[in-house]
Amino acid sequence: MRTLAGVRRRGSDVWYAASLAAALPSVPTPATVPPLLSALLASSGSRERELLGTALLEVLNSAFALQPCALTVADRPQVHSQDDQGRLARATYGYYRCRVPQSGPPQRCAIRVYHRTAVRGQVVSASAFTNTLLHEWVHHYDFAGLGLRRSPHTAGFFARLRQLRSLVLPDLDPESTGPHPGR
Ligand SMILES: [Zn+2]
Repeated sequence: MRTLAGVRRRGSDVWYAASLAAALPSVPTPATVPPLLSALLASSGSRERELLGTALLEVLNSAFALQPCALTVADRPQVHSQDDQGRLARATYGYYRCRVPQSGPPQRCAIRVYHRTAVRGQVVSASAFTNTLLHEWVHHYDFAGLGLRRSPHTAGFFARLRQLRSLVLPDLDPESTGPHPGR
């Protein structure tokens, strides 16, 4: 019997397999990336990060021929949950959102990154911010570049993230994917 759950399951397997198999196309590092990354890694203000991050997204989208993606840096703590001892159980560093129509490219693509840590409300480090932004951009690539209708955290997703990191941060350890942003 073709239950709705069964259909959904088969559908998600298709996206899972496609996500596993895909790689980021090889492109040269755009000349504007190193100065943008240096500025991002030295930034601390939410508005400053939003402007620099928006500029980085524009450069990446142009390099990979993707449609635009908006960025909001929310000056508020990461959405999180705590266990019954009050310890941090899970925090969402940021997320990617888009509307996926029946056919055609995704619409209203947007990334949101939280500017403050979950419990203490301190400004997140510039490297954590940058890692989150790159992670969320890979979700954008999955929808807008690969045409996936879902963007699961497969081994292929993290391989694309490593490729992206070695493109924009070639001096850093390519095996490090940074903190996991949660979504
Ligand atoms: Zn994610």
